[in-house]
Amino acid sequence: MALVAGPGRAGGTSDLELHTMKHVAYIKTLDTRSDELQYWLTEHLRLNGVYWGLTALHLLGHPDALPRQDTIDFVLSCQRDNGGFGAAPGHDAHMLYTVSAVQILVTIDAVDELDQRDRGGKQKVGSFIASLQDRETGVFKGDEWGETDTRFLYGALNALSLLGLLDLVDVPKAVTYIQSCENFDGGYGISPGAESHAGQVFTCIGALSIAGRLDLVNKDRLGAWLSERQVEKGGFNGRPEKLPDACYAWWVGTSLAMIDRLHWIDRNKLAAFILQCQDPEAGGFADRPGNMVDVYHTHFSLAGLSLLGVVDGLQEVDPV
Ligand SMILES: [Zn+2]
Repeated sequence: MALVAGPGRAGGTSDLELHTMKHVAYIKTLDTRSDELQYWLTEHLRLNGVYWGLTALHLLGHPDALPRQDTIDFVLSCQRDNGGFGAAPGHDAHMLYTVSAVQILVTIDAVDELDQRDRGGKQKVGSFIASLQDRETGVFKGDEWGETDTRFLYGALNALSLLGLLDLVDVPKAVTYIQSCENFDGGYGISPGAESHAGQVFTCIGALSIAGRLDLVNKDRLGAWLSERQVEKGGFNGRPEKLPDACYAWWVGTSLAMIDRLHWIDRNKLAAFILQCQDPEAGGFADRPGNMVDVYHTHFSLAGLSLLGVVDGLQEVDPV
């Protein structure tokens, strides 16, 4: 997938700088706040949180800021007997946490750890993911209780492709399902007939990219809908008439990158909006300027900035 390269870096955003070390410090402190109520209120997101924080540190060029062995031990402590992963130790296995676990292990080159301690290796993780595909429609469930969503379909293809196990599922059926979620405006929804939403566009285009079937996308029509997500302030919204939010820099921007239409938006204006969402004192990014920061928006803001290629000091990100 083509990435935005050098030309244009730093152009037009010189009044706004990236506070790299503040962000590194902010993410590192998240691990030491177990005495705060907020820590326990977010237990259902703990494994996702580690993925967001770890990836943000890699994008910032500080991949070793979290202790590697502690990270591996925590991830493995979330694995269940069925091969899937829960949000935290003792939680039920779910697609979203299993995808985060795979992404973390791949990022720190620790997939082999799944073969240790009688865990059944990556094959067992792949089997858990494959067991969640509806073989009639091609879509995936999040867990044994059966809710389906294009997010789970993308997550499944993402994790299985990282593990080299895509052959465990029916990829052509999954592709057919995604096509059934395409709307007349060029966007995609959570299920057939559902309203277009930028987050779902990312999951559908990402899945089609992994499946090697971007040829099925009407790129000009989708590119037009995605470009219209940029509002006056430079940020993106997820649907028409909604407020801009820094995380949509990623959901919209990466979708545009995957269909080679990232040059259809004002990259400098978007980067300026994202940088305004920083907390320049305490570190981290919020959804909008002046709001409270969180690790989710910190990760997606940095990923969005990396994708745009107009700010120095970030590692390049793969849109898929
Ligand atoms: Zn957001």
